Amino acid sequence: MHYTGTIWRPPYEARSLLLEITAGCTHHKCKFCTLYNDLPFNFRMSSIKDIESDLLELQTALCDPISKITSSMTGNKPFTADRVFLTGANPFVLSYGKLSEIAALIHRYLPFIKTIGSFARITDISSKTDDELSNLSDMGYDALTIGIETGDDKALEFMKKGYVSADIIKQCSRLDKAGIRYSFFYLAGISGVGRGEVGAKFTADVCNQLNPILIGANMLTVYPDSALFNEIKNGNWREESELEKYIEIRTLIEHLKIETSVAAMGSSNAFHFQADIPRGKEKLLAFLNKIINNVSEGELMAYRKNVKHL
Ligand code: SF4
Repeated sequence: MHYTGTIWRPPYEARSLLLEITAGCTHHKCKFCTLYNDLPFNFRMSSIKDIESDLLELQTALCDPISKITSSMTGNKPFTADRVFLTGANPFVLSYGKLSEIAALIHRYLPFIKTIGSFARITDISSKTDDELSNLSDMGYDALTIGIETGDDKALEFMKKGYVSADIIKQCSRLDKAGIRYSFFYLAGISGVGRGEVGAKFTADVCNQLNPILIGANMLTVYPDSALFNEIKNGNWREESELEKYIEIRTLIEHLKIETSVAAMGSSNAFHFQADIPRGKEKLLAFLNKIINNVSEGELMAYRKNVKHL
């Protein structure tokens, strides 16, 4: 398989086949982000030749009769998959034509694949028509992961995210209409010191107008090679405390009125959780209160300092 640099995928895509369609990010401007700094370029699309070669390799690995016989002899369950996750920060930026071509290749080589997911930016959706989105849904594109980070416009603008909350609502409503589901990544800490709860309320307001399958909370870790590190050094921005980040997440959950799943699963979170709301809301809030009331800033800070890489 062809893989370039560090491969990032959401925790819940662990059983998906990872196919490198793109590497890097077309935007590459968010001040807090260092995810693709190990690449010698900002963004690149894989060649169709490499994509086909990877699909052939996956076909051989998954359909190989010898591995099926070995599995039945050893009693091990053979690995199966019904979903492909396209790697890169925003493969959904590719044109409708390219995404159609890639979906056709996936279904030709791996006819058992039911859905295709990827990370996507809000601006990747706006570049497609309603009919194109609807056709992409028919081709299997589903359950995209969108790092909206927050619904706080002041934070989105300061961090150079490249869109504001009204864009999130507009473009995700178009996905709803097209039948393409989506999950959100939320970045606790993005609003800066003293503004965590304000940002959480703005974010809840955005989410309450949409239908995310899941809202996955990540916690901001500022790395020295980020633009945000320099902003802090120059006195232009101040970080929230670790406890403020937990209070922020609690406020977000308190204000959510939709049916969804809320989770903290990645390595940026000292405590992991997942709950469906509204059913599991009270239990989850009690869990967060326990953290807020019993874990010290020092203990949480020690964890943050040891997050070497997201
Ligand atoms: S946060 Fe996402 S969109 Fe922003 S620069 Fe990083 S990978 Fe690109």
